[in-house]
Amino acid sequence: MATQDEVFKKIVSHAKEYGFVFQSSEIYDGLSAVYDYGQNGVELKNNIKRYWWDSMTLLNENIVGIDSAIFMHPTIWKASGHVDAFNDPLIDNRDSKKRYRADVLIEDYLAKIDEKIDKEVAKARKRFGDSFDEAVFCSTNPRVLENVAKRDAVHERFANALNDNNLEELRQIILDCEIVCPISGTRNWTDVRQFNLMFKTEMGSTADGAMGVYLRPETAQGIFVNYLNVQKTGRMRIPFGIAQIGKAFRNEIVARQFIFRMREFEQMEMQFFVRPGQELEWFGKWKETRMRWHKALGLGDWKYRYHDHDKLAHYANAATDIEFEMPFGFKEVEGIHSRTNFDLSQHEKFSGKKIQYFDPELNESYTPYVIETSIGVDRMFLTVLCSSYEEQELEGGDKRVVLHLPAALAPVKCAVMPLVRKDGLPEKAREIVNELRFDFTTRYDEKDSIGKRYRRQDAIGTPFCITVDHQTLEDNTVTLRRRDTMEQSRVNVADLHKIIHDEVSINSLLRKLS
Ligand code: ATP
Repeated sequence: MATQDEVFKKIVSHAKEYGFVFQSSEIYDGLSAVYDYGQNGVELKNNIKRYWWDSMTLLNENIVGIDSAIFMHPTIWKASGHVDAFNDPLIDNRDSKKRYRADVLIEDYLAKIDEKIDKEVAKARKRFGDSFDEAVFCSTNPRVLENVAKRDAVHERFANALNDNNLEELRQIILDCEIVCPISGTRNWTDVRQFNLMFKTEMGSTADGAMGVYLRPETAQGIFVNYLNVQKTGRMRIPFGIAQIGKAFRNEIVARQFIFRMREFEQMEMQFFVRPGQELEWFGKWKETRMRWHKALGLGDWKYRYHDHDKLAHYANAATDIEFEMPFGFKEVEGIHSRTNFDLSQHEKFSGKKIQYFDPELNESYTPYVIETSIGVDRMFLTVLCSSYEEQELEGGDKRVVLHLPAALAPVKCAVMPLVRKDGLPEKAREIVNELRFDFTTRYDEKDSIGKRYRRQDAIGTPFCITVDHQTLEDNTVTLRRRDTMEQSRVNVADLHKIIHDEVSINSLLRKLS
């Protein structure tokens, strides 16, 4: 059996081989943590965005979208706290010269202790069988108790150090836990320093006096500074939301794990404005709504979990992550934050403009509170890709690689293939393509054996293959082959549209949500 690490490597090379994701600037040896999406990747990505956008703006009367610019007035980032506090603690290993995030080194250490505990429990479950009582085992087994105590103690120190911004203590935890550099294996660590993640550039020619501007590190601020514009012109009443999809940029210290952590990435964010005092109720609702959105894709309910934050960001009064089980462990895909009225109040202060809402029901004005849902398009792409990839052994010793993509997200919905390249079959196949392509991304393929053509479509996750043969010319029926089961059935050309539509439309996903 391949290890998870090997599986992940295979997924990365599959993504390249089949036109999903390429390393940026590859012919110049690449640019670290920047990626390009290929012909299939862009379709999958667009479908993910469409699913999110429609779930926000079609299913909620009180959510509208905007598209704000990447460049914004630099004072915005002062007001939001990013200039002063959007930092990660970095540490270098003097021997390997490798740089790490101090917090991530400690988190990985804690995750390893958790793994040890899980292993003890799994071992005991196997030994005791049906009579196994996990709660009793965990509260009495000395090895488990020792590990739990160790984990909790480190965890408490870690949470305090983060809360107090105590960089020396972070370093001390790394030393006390005897965490070594994975490359050099040594504990020769430098001090921990803060590193601001924003990219800076200049706007305007230097003769005019250029202004320093940032590439936005999140799309949210574009929503906050447009709050009044949208509320007034859309005559929005609280509660209401503003959604946005767009690029964000972070000069990540350690960029690893393919498109999981990039320096240029895309976010789908929604800020939901509510009455003060009602934010925690709405936080709970959005937590649930967003989990439903993920699970509707059918990637496996057990692959998701919530991770509530111990350390709240300076602006939040509640926060949770939706984590997904990647081949390299459970990782954050989406954050849901109760951001209080911090951002709007700050913009009110820094801009000098009044950003208040007059609530006609209460007959009073206030600065709205905000619930944010924030998900990375690229991370979402990675969850879909990782959970869809399968190497299958087929009967007769044959093998295939198949992407079990949710049909609504698949880059290509159907491929039409003439069995042979003669006798009018290509013409008939083209006729079918010409009909289907108005509604579905459709491919025509006549090269190689039919088996090879099926494999090519399986590898990019095409849900349907349609084969045109001699019988088609007689009775207008084709062979419809399904990707996951490889089951083939004879259907009338006139029925193709409905069959395909019922399974591949984003609509079918959205219906699961309402
Ligand atoms: P992390 O702790 O992994 O750095 P974060 O907590 O800083 O993430 P947020 O600021 O909450 O992330 O951003 C919201 C979402 O944006 C994340 O859940 C993730 O999906 C996505 N995201 C954040 N940083 C990156 C990145 N460097 N590359 C790709 N996606 C990212």
